[in-house]
Amino acid sequence: MACNEYGPGRLSEPPAILAAIEALLLPKRPLSGRHVLVTSGPTHEPIDPVRYIANRSSGRQGHSIAAALAALGARVTLVSGPVSVPDPAGVAVIHVESAQQMLDACQSALPADVAIFAAAVADWRVASASAGKIKKVAGVAPPSLELVLNPDILATIAEAGARRPRLVIGFAAETDDLMTNAQAKRRRKNADWIVANDVSPASGIMGGDENAVHLITADGVEDWPRMPKQEVARRLAERVAAALG
Ligand code: C5P
Repeated sequence: MACNEYGPGRLSEPPAILAAIEALLLPKRPLSGRHVLVTSGPTHEPIDPVRYIANRSSGRQGHSIAAALAALGARVTLVSGPVSVPDPAGVAVIHVESAQQMLDACQSALPADVAIFAAAVADWRVASASAGKIKKVAGVAPPSLELVLNPDILATIAEAGARRPRLVIGFAAETDDLMTNAQAKRRRKNADWIVANDVSPASGIMGGDENAVHLITADGVEDWPRMPKQEVARRLAERVAAALG
């Protein structure tokens, strides 16, 4: 098939072919038999059927993490908000729009050995989204939006209990006081690790191909050099494999 045709006859993309070859040739991989839940991308919170509130997120980092975990043999469930990056090969992807849908999908994906929350979830949603398109009427004041707090997916899944994954990893994207905020977030949300990154516009990280992160664990902080997002993903997947033993 060619020229934008899609279907069973189309040659798979090279990463999908590589993932299938690796799965055949490397049967004893370090995360074989483990189930990992990953969230990625933004959430869209409807204002009306045509408008929404969202965070900036390409999904590249979260999708790369899902692919890297699958390459180490994990069974990966990726819960993704709306993104334009393709579904990673060898990963079960659940597509959602809103934070509430993302939480529901995560809860139904449990149990998991590890959960990694890379999604940029909208903190608020519109209290009552309009069923019909809100019309712009000349001379009428713009509508005001009442916002309510969204559920915190990471904090909910990280709550102590029988279904808590053994290793819960969150992300902290900050523009100010990165390390202080990230360390506080690790404790407040009951996460085991936080991957912190500076997303101030000058860093060029948001939407870009590279990331410079700090891995915060109970033992301290590791500063990783700036590297491609796939490399961050590969290193993180290896750390996860080492932590599970
Ligand atoms: O509080 P903040 O949004 O900065 O926390 C970031 C971390 O929390 C990320 O891992 C993100 O995926 C997660 N999060 C979540 N649900 C929310 C808000 C954030 O899972 N409603």
